[in-house]
Amino acid sequence: MILKEMKPKRGHLFIISAPSGAGKTTLVKAALKQFTDMLYSISYTTRKPRADERNGVDYHFVSKQDFKKGITKDRWAEWAEVYGNYYGTSAEFIEKSLSSGCDILLDIDVQGTLQILKHYPDSVTIFILPPSMNTLRKRLEMRASDSKAVIEKRLVNARKEMAQKKMYRHIIVNDKLPDAIEEISAIFKKYRQ
Ligand code: ADP
Ligand code: 5GP
Repeated sequence: MILKEMKPKRGHLFIISAPSGAGKTTLVKAALKQFTDMLYSISYTTRKPRADERNGVDYHFVSKQDFKKGITKDRWAEWAEVYGNYYGTSAEFIEKSLSSGCDILLDIDVQGTLQILKHYPDSVTIFILPPSMNTLRKRLEMRASDSKAVIEKRLVNARKEMAQKKMYRHIIVNDKLPDAIEEISAIFKKYRQ
C-alpha cells in the first residue's frame, strides 16, 4: 500500500487596506494579540522609519537600489510606489506560509491588493474606513509623523483609495476602536474555523 504524503491544509490569506491614518496599524496590532498564530507579512519599504518603528518588526527598511533589484529578481508578490516610496510583499514569505498551513495578514494598499487577488483570488479582503474625512485629517495630525505637505498628499490619495472600497469583501468603519477590533476579530474567526 502506498501512503500518500499528508499535505497540510493551505492557510488563509487576509488583506487589510485603508487610507493612511484610518487606524489600520492600530487595529492590526490589537487584532493580532488575539490571534497569536496568525503571521503578519512584514513589508519591505524604502520609506524612512518613524520614531516608534523598528526594522524587521514594522517593516524591513531597505534602500531603493535593493528594492529595485528585488523587482528584477521577482522577489515581490506585489509592489507599489506610494508617496514616492516603494513598498513590497515578499513572494517567498506568502508561498511558504500558506503552503505550511499558516494564516497570514497583509497590510497593503489598493494597488497591491489588485495584484495579490490575481494570484490569490480567494484572499479575504477588508477595507477600513475612517468615520469622516475630518476625523481622518485629525488622526493624521495627531500621529504627528508627517509634514503638512505629506498629510495633504495622504488626504488626496485617501479619496482615491476610498473610491475603490467596493472591491473589498468586508468594510469596517473605525469609529470606536473597541467596536472596530470586535468586527475585525469576527471576520478572522468566521474564515478560520
Ligand atoms: P494607519 O495605520 O491606518 O495609517 P494608525 O493606526 O497609525 O493609522 O492611526 C492613526 C492615528 O489615529 C494614530 O494616532 C492612532 O492612535 C489613532 N487612532 C486609530 N484608531 C482610532 C480610533 N478608533 N479612535 C481614535 N483614534 C484612533
Ligand atoms: P505607511 O507609510 O503609512 O506605513 O504606509 C503607506 C501605505 O502603504 C499604506 O496604505 C500601506 O497599507 C501601504 N503599504 C504598506 N506595505 C505595503 C506593501 O507591501 N505593498 C503595498 N502595495 N502597499 C503597502
